[in-house]
Amino acid sequence: MENKYNLHEYKRPHNTRNIIIVIVAVALIITCGYVIYFNFFSSPLKSGVEIEAGTTKLKVKDFVKNDKYKASIKNGLTAKQLQTVGEHNITVTVKGHDYTTTVKVVDHTKPTLTGVSALTVDLNSKPDYTKGVSVKDNAAGKVKLTVDSKAVKLNKAGTYPITYKAKDAAGNVTSESTKVKVVDLEKLMKEKVVYLTFDDGPSQNTPKILKILKKYKVKGTFFVTAQEPGYFKYMKQAHDQGNFIAAHSYTHKFSIYRSEKAYFDDLDKIEAVIKKYTGKTSPVLRFPGGSSNTASRHFANGIMTKLTKDVLKKGYQYVDWNLDSTDASGNNVPVAKLVANGTSTYSNNLCILMHDTGAKHTTVKALPAIIEYYKKHHYKFETLENSPHVYHHHVNN
Ligand SMILES: [Zn+2]
Repeated sequence: MENKYNLHEYKRPHNTRNIIIVIVAVALIITCGYVIYFNFFSSPLKSGVEIEAGTTKLKVKDFVKNDKYKASIKNGLTAKQLQTVGEHNITVTVKGHDYTTTVKVVDHTKPTLTGVSALTVDLNSKPDYTKGVSVKDNAAGKVKLTVDSKAVKLNKAGTYPITYKAKDAAGNVTSESTKVKVVDLEKLMKEKVVYLTFDDGPSQNTPKILKILKKYKVKGTFFVTAQEPGYFKYMKQAHDQGNFIAAHSYTHKFSIYRSEKAYFDDLDKIEAVIKKYTGKTSPVLRFPGGSSNTASRHFANGIMTKLTKDVLKKGYQYVDWNLDSTDASGNNVPVAKLVANGTSTYSNNLCILMHDTGAKHTTVKALPAIIEYYKKHHYKFETLENSPHVYHHHVNN
């Protein structure tokens, strides 16, 4: 009994120690297993990472579970794969070991639709509504452009709605609506129409011109520049008053004619300003110096021949003039001379060139008499927005 008791007494601490040993051993095994598992078997990379098609560069931090890991992408995706919807493998080196995971390239972005603008078409013509309209998508694959022109009655003059729809391979859809004006061109050509155009503004004179136009209840077209950004706000005022704001040039320097790229960079910049102040871009433009300018010869041979074609291809219409007020021949050209020149023709439709700059005070003074002349002779005053008349000069370079 005594022995047994002693043995029993003796066993107790022994059992406790064993339990501790077992706990420590189990803890050690778990820790080692954990360390071994995470170092050798488990990937330190996230799985099923999704990236939007068109992403240009993969970022390693998007793929590692812990961005404190020293990691780099060993085999990423090619430019083509970055645009192709589907699963692709990439290899990432983490702490000296290579791991492979899959990336899912997805497309949730809508395609972009550019060049949709109001159209004027001739009665009984067969218009190509897609001319000048282009689509672009972030992902590879075809973008389908469809035009819903069911509402347009080509045999009846009027204004009709039309909708463009671009659908990418992933099914994302962008749509945009505009108006088609069906006109009887032959009849229109016999109508008396005058287009008042003001180049180079906005300027300190813009509000004075706007006041005159408002007084006579007529509208004009402003071919704007960014030469005086302090007056940009007048673009909005002119637009809100029903006038048409169109692109002339951002810098108005003839050096924009040194290349097609230089020209379009400048055009894009003024278009962005117009969009900011009027809420829309304009499909109409006027070249600095007109399409007939010869100043561009100093910068690039044949540039106007190229640009006049380029702009039409891009869906723009360029507009010159068929009557010059001659206010660009100098500052302070006498009012009487401007009025005489601005009213010196009997054509049925006229596009008059005038200027809106701080120095052209006499243009502002001549404007009421010019307007009164055309009112007296029953001309309609129109803007060049969506105009059926096109004024093109002979290209000289
Ligand atoms: Zn100009």
